[in-house]
Amino acid sequence: MPPAALPPTLGAGSDLQDRISFPTFADCPQLGDAADARYFHRAGAYRRHWCFLGEVTRVSTFSRLVLDVVDTAAREGTRVACYDDDGGRSFLTGARPPRVGDTVAVLYAQTKAFLDGTIGIRVEDNRCIRFLPHRLLDLLAANDALWGPRPAICCVPDCGESEDLRRCSKCQLVRYCGAEHQSTDWAAHKGICRALPTLKIFTDRDWTTYNRRITFQ
Ligand SMILES: [Zn+2]
Ligand SMILES: [Zn+2]
Repeated sequence: MPPAALPPTLGAGSDLQDRISFPTFADCPQLGDAADARYFHRAGAYRRHWCFLGEVTRVSTFSRLVLDVVDTAAREGTRVACYDDDGGRSFLTGARPPRVGDTVAVLYAQTKAFLDGTIGIRVEDNRCIRFLPHRLLDLLAANDALWGPRPAICCVPDCGESEDLRRCSKCQLVRYCGAEHQSTDWAAHKGICRALPTLKIFTDRDWTTYNRRITFQ
């Protein structure tokens, strides 16, 4: 079976642990603050790409689409508010709608103070946001498995077998001594295994330079 699930390339800065490419809420630049030299040239033009990641804890579509999220630093209560001329409905059409437990990815996220005094991320371009059907912890664990060392032993803890290992046929990443340990480990592995192909939308790009705006379409 071909190793279809593994991202074929790992673009520069595409490790989700890269804190400049994937800033926490506190590390996102503030809207209108082009002095942030990590992200902007002096004239205000983008220097590189970046993306905020958070796990959705609440979805509100009351007056517009608003998501409450927990970020990669476990900061709770961050709001991602989606603005268009139609109460945020353009963010819900076509694609799978966001659910609690999804990870939301927002390209070029910038923070701003809303009228009610809270601080959040305002999204106006529906091509810059994507709802991923994975827990944030699963995405990060899949990322770490992809970027980290790949032990040449069965990945069930304390097994230690290094001969005749077989790869997980779905992700082609982790290896087992046999079917028994693969099925023992499935409960722990399945979240990572399913999240791994999704990482392609990040690893397919170079995040460290900027030629033109990227989108999730
Ligand atoms: Zn084993
Ligand atoms: Zn797998």
